This record gives sequence, C-alpha cells and structure tokens, in this order.
Amino acid sequence: MALQEKPKFIQCPYCQEEILAGAIKCKHCGSSIGGKRTYSDYSQVPWYRKNWFAFLTFFFFAPALFVLVVSGDIYYKSGGMVKAYSKAARILLGLFCFIPFIWVIYVLF
Ligand SMILES: [Zn+2]
Repeated sequence: MALQEKPKFIQCPYCQEEILAGAIKCKHCGSSIGGKRTYSDYSQVPWYRKNWFAFLTFFFFAPALFVLVVSGDIYYKSGGMVKAYSKAARILLGLFCFIPFIWVIYVLF
C-alpha cells in the first residue's frame, strides 16, 4: 500500500492560520515568512538547533556555539510551541562565547 505523503503545515507567525511548511509567504494574510524555517513540533527541529545542544556547546566548546548562533536559529520549547531565540538573544549568546577566551587570555598573560 502506497502511503501518500501528507503535506506538512505550519502556523503563520502573524495570523496563526495554517500554511504549508516551506512557504515563504502566507496565503491568508500575505505576510512574508522570509524563507525562515519555522517548526510546528519540537521534534522536527534538527538536534544541532536545539536549546540543550547550544548549552552543551557553550560549556564544552564555545567556538561551536558561536558558529551556531551566527549561522541560524536556536529553538526552544515554550508552552507546547516551538520558539526561536530572538536576534538580540543570539547576539548576546555570541558575545558570551568570548568569555572563555577572555578568561584564558587573562590567565595566560
Ligand atoms: Zn498569515
């Protein structure tokens, strides 16, 4: 039996109507989604874009977190919804990545 693949829907961040995943413009309100990926379920988020992974990289390998925050969004789950960190939060995280370097330089020199 050939299973027909069900089209995946995501919620428009502006009008909350369901739109097809991958759409760059909402057909209901006309808002541009800007090609930005949104996820309707946290399990759809790639593991390297998840909150816990960002924290792991921060504690074990800060440069990797810096690459993560500059290359894309980090997602977390809040009230059953998948949310991405705001740009300001990502810039802050990116700056935090330099703290270990500053500390190492301070200790060594
Ligand atoms: Zn919309």
